[in-house]
Amino acid sequence: MKRVGRRWHAVVCYEVEVRERPDDGRALGVDMNVGQVATSDGAIVRMPASSRLVARHRRQQCVAARRRKGSRRRLRMIRRAARTARKLAMRRRNWQHHVSRRLADRAATLVVEDLRVRGMTASAKGTAEQPGTNVKQKAGLNRSILQTGWGDLRRMLEYKAVRVVAVNPAYSSQTCHACGHVSAASRPCQARFKCVSCGHTAHADVNAARNILALGTGATGRRGALALATPQTRQPVSEAA
Ligand SMILES: [Zn+2]
Repeated sequence: MKRVGRRWHAVVCYEVEVRERPDDGRALGVDMNVGQVATSDGAIVRMPASSRLVARHRRQQCVAARRRKGSRRRLRMIRRAARTARKLAMRRRNWQHHVSRRLADRAATLVVEDLRVRGMTASAKGTAEQPGTNVKQKAGLNRSILQTGWGDLRRMLEYKAVRVVAVNPAYSSQTCHACGHVSAASRPCQARFKCVSCGHTAHADVNAARNILALGTGATGRRGALALATPQTRQPVSEAA
């Protein structure tokens, strides 16, 4: 038995036979963005927003903060807020399990971006000598990256998929999958990709997922390798200043 907060969980151990999954030769690129996962075959899976639960949690924390320190009413509200936080965590975990299973079933090789989540969450503040820019916005983005829990999803993929390849995602969101042109101007907004060179349009995250797939399969010499896999084409050719 294991106690989580005020709840007791029964822990049941049993053995299952793990059958080695054969390598079907298929590979899928996965782009993990804020609140959603896009794949190179054009699918987009959104994380449930849970905005009502998030709002409730924030409200409970505010109410608890206003109450007298050490009071029973404050303690009770803190416990309620913790219960809401656990509910959110369970919902997120459930979603991660569903998504990772679906991805692992679709292809033996999953190519993901090497996000280095920890580095991203630590760096926005900068140092006293070199304060970071846009600290507020980045703090918000970092929070939602943490809430999305890409590290957890990644770990699930690693034990569910036959193979996980992590690639450096540099410029994968600015590179045109059709012609290889790299430009920040090809991203008119968060959701859309429109190549300024050849006019190719796609969902921005699906375009990124296709580039990630090309990076991963190119590096291991598998089929699906594209021009993007060669380092020269990944240099930023032009950049909107
Ligand atoms: Zn293009």
